[in-house]
Amino acid sequence: MADPELRVPVSPSQLERAEECPLDWVISSLGGAAGSVQASLGTLVHHALETAQGPDPEALFAAVEKEWHKLPFDAEWESERGRRLAAAMTAGLADYLSEFAASDRELVGRETLFEIPIDRAVLRGMADRLERRSQADGSAEVTVVDLKTGRNPPSKADTETHAQLQAYQLGVVLGAFRLAAGEELPEGTHSGGARLLYVHPDATRGGGFVERAQGPLSDEAAQELSERVVKVSRVMAAGEFTARVEHHCSDPHKPGNCRLHIVQAVSHA
Ligand code: SF4
Repeated sequence: MADPELRVPVSPSQLERAEECPLDWVISSLGGAAGSVQASLGTLVHHALETAQGPDPEALFAAVEKEWHKLPFDAEWESERGRRLAAAMTAGLADYLSEFAASDRELVGRETLFEIPIDRAVLRGMADRLERRSQADGSAEVTVVDLKTGRNPPSKADTETHAQLQAYQLGVVLGAFRLAAGEELPEGTHSGGARLLYVHPDATRGGGFVERAQGPLSDEAAQELSERVVKVSRVMAAGEFTARVEHHCSDPHKPGNCRLHIVQAVSHA
């Protein structure tokens, strides 16, 4: 890195992608990855959760419908199929919000930013929801919830080491989240873990939603994550990006699914 003052932003969602294949990461971060209707639909479902006033499935679906014209469907039947999917996902959100309303948790942040300087990297991201639960001793624990609109939840074992969830937890542990009006989480707040919330019908298999939970971040895991962030920031700041051709190139569940090195050229006989 030429400029010693330069800080390298590392997004929690891109950490594993850059680790697995630096070339795939740089292509996607320069806008070369193929966008998809599915990704745009996911953005609308996130918006519905962010603006939700309660567990009303119709209001949640209406929030998606309001922005529907922005989705680039090629044909009416695709749009209809997308609507059915959106209805299923917003119904799942409503189920989640009902369960939340009946719980002892309170919402303290949505789409909340955090930033953690680590060496010359800045781990920076945004969490979908911060939910707080008061403890008997007067302290509070905060759990981060990350909404996913994909169809393949990770295994329970992979969730335990999920880098994005660990990054959010580090944000809680270090008090790095900025709540509304610039407030911080009160001192003494500890992490209650982090959860992935899936609402795609292929993931929920008949239930409204399914979750994958990561236990509270240990000191060792926090240290390990910090080291990974520093290492990946060096990869991101480099002038050359290595292509790591491995099984992730053709794995539909992995981010490195750009197929750049595995699809044969049209001229290939
Ligand atoms: S095809 Fe594989 S090696 Fe090539 S850029 Fe994509 S993930 Fe990397």
